[in-house]
Amino acid sequence: MAIANKIAGYISRSSWIRKMFEEGERLRQEFGADNVYDFTLGNPDVEPPQALHTALLQLAQHPLPGMHRYMNNAGYPETRAAVARKLAADSGLEVTAAHVIMTCGAGGALNVVLKTILNPGEEVIILAPYFVEYKFYIDNHGGVPVEVWTNRETFRLDLAAIEAAITTKTRAIIVNSPNNPTGVIYTAEELAALGELVKRAQARTGHQVYVISDEPYARLSYDGAKVPNIFPLIESSVVVTSHSKDLALPGERIGYLAANPRMATAMQFMEGAVFCNRTLGFVNAPALMQRLVADLQDVSVDSSLYQDKRDLFYTTLTGLGFSMVKPDGAFYLFPKSPFADDVEFVKLAQKHHILLVPGSGFGAPGYFRIAYCVDRGMIERSLPAWERLAVEAGL
Ligand code: PLP
Repeated sequence: MAIANKIAGYISRSSWIRKMFEEGERLRQEFGADNVYDFTLGNPDVEPPQALHTALLQLAQHPLPGMHRYMNNAGYPETRAAVARKLAADSGLEVTAAHVIMTCGAGGALNVVLKTILNPGEEVIILAPYFVEYKFYIDNHGGVPVEVWTNRETFRLDLAAIEAAITTKTRAIIVNSPNNPTGVIYTAEELAALGELVKRAQARTGHQVYVISDEPYARLSYDGAKVPNIFPLIESSVVVTSHSKDLALPGERIGYLAANPRMATAMQFMEGAVFCNRTLGFVNAPALMQRLVADLQDVSVDSSLYQDKRDLFYTTLTGLGFSMVKPDGAFYLFPKSPFADDVEFVKLAQKHHILLVPGSGFGAPGYFRIAYCVDRGMIERSLPAWERLAVEAGL
């Protein structure tokens, strides 16, 4: 075997995803891209805010000496300070540049955090339905993922289940709000209760349990819903996030991690994380993007564009008999599959040229995910196909 057995195993177990994408490609070639309705990818369809292009042009026309060189592994002090100012305003706490490391997206930040804190065999609780990469990231650093379901009807935190899953090996809990794939935003009360639970667990196990708050969708919330800042609510917490979604820059790989200033071990954690940002080979987050996002901490894409698509989809699909939680944020819907076998349902949808991801891909069989970060015209064109699909699925 030319590659590691473990990687070969991962690839073969996810071969159905590849088959699904291949089938989508085949449909596009046969029927034309306009007649295939692809709701599989969380790749924003909107463009970054104009302010980003203006700043980019300014830098291209007036390059700064040394702007393409290496810098401190944690990132430019002025960018870290700009992020810290935003976090301080949101949390009401004294977050400083020393609490922030610029990273290659939230994915990079998650890997840095996990490498920093995990000893071999330690457990990380992930909450189903979850972003599937969590499992691979945890494995990257010798950890063991432990799945705990959220409430299957509401997708809210099941605190009793989380508490029951904590063992002496638990090192971290990953929470993701607004959530991919459910769109749920956890309330301040839920997070505060999680904070209390973590304190109890730490007292019981005698070691630190981190809450890693994965928040790339934090600026995409609807109907005035507020995404609570985690720092005042959970002492042992770290934020990981990016500008992939809020500034529509996923290809640029720019994000950050931040440690809670209330955490007694914050500076030791930061020292470890700077080391890991370097030795994972990221070295530092992209220099150009660090310069650009420093001035965009209060800017984001227009989330009302996504809200409008959520409303169109939610109203139409519930009208057709699909059942789902109305998302408060992010750009996904996670309806119940009309069939117990979600992969079968997704195959049936393909017959109607609708491309979806089965809930199994998120550790949640029996559901399916719609990514609505697509052109509104495609959603509109797809509606007759959804009607036919609903009828064929017996709704
Ligand atoms: N976390 C969640 C929940 C996501 O949905 C994504 C991307 O879709 C990421 C993390 C990683 O995002 P990035 O590495 O582009 O910041």
